[in-house]
Amino acid sequence: MLDCGFSIKETQHRLSRLGRTPEDISGIVVTHEHADHVGGVFKFARRYEIPVWLTYGTFQAVGASVCKDVDLHFCRDSEAFRIGDLTLQPYTVPHDAREPVQFVATDGDCKLGVLTDAGQSTGHLLQALGGCDALVLECNHDRQMLADSVYPPSLKRRIGGPYGHLANDISAEILAALDKHRLKMVVGAHLSLKNNTPDLARAALTTALDQHSAEVMIACQEQGFDWIVIA
Ligand SMILES: [Zn+2]
Ligand SMILES: [Zn+2]
Repeated sequence: MLDCGFSIKETQHRLSRLGRTPEDISGIVVTHEHADHVGGVFKFARRYEIPVWLTYGTFQAVGASVCKDVDLHFCRDSEAFRIGDLTLQPYTVPHDAREPVQFVATDGDCKLGVLTDAGQSTGHLLQALGGCDALVLECNHDRQMLADSVYPPSLKRRIGGPYGHLANDISAEILAALDKHRLKMVVGAHLSLKNNTPDLARAALTTALDQHSAEVMIACQEQGFDWIVIA
């Protein structure tokens, strides 16, 4: 499981939609300390005795008392580790957290890259995400919708800033720049309910794919998405 911002009950409910139980989870990997990512991690891990991987900076930001009695493992940028038959590679991203990372996971055949919660593109993230079979890519906001929204100016600056969240056009630039020779599927994710629409996100990703024929899906906050098989 990658991050968990939900209560134990909501997490159980979302797992059951996928035909899974908490006992099926062999590990939780954490990207950073913001509540929408870490809010449910430690309660769930404690209840079901699931090991957790996180950076030391995220651990410090969360605080030792919150992680009490949880089997913790520290990870860091560019040092791969294994959980079962998966190898996970954390890579650093520009975001306003203590030591934020995102992950690339592979079983040796297929490679899945995940990128949410980044304020800008970097050479480092482009390198980490190159050559993936599938991507989950943040499409947080449409610049104009964010500019026109009722959010206070300070929040607009934070979200749209270099350590905030990816606007559709930046996500599209990232997708366009990546090595896509194996890419079959891209899922737009982490969409703002107020400052984006699935149609705008889909259009940005589809345009960025240009001639490359990969499928585009958009994850919604309520339903998430079903199992996707990448052959
Ligand atoms: Zn987030
Ligand atoms: Zn965040």
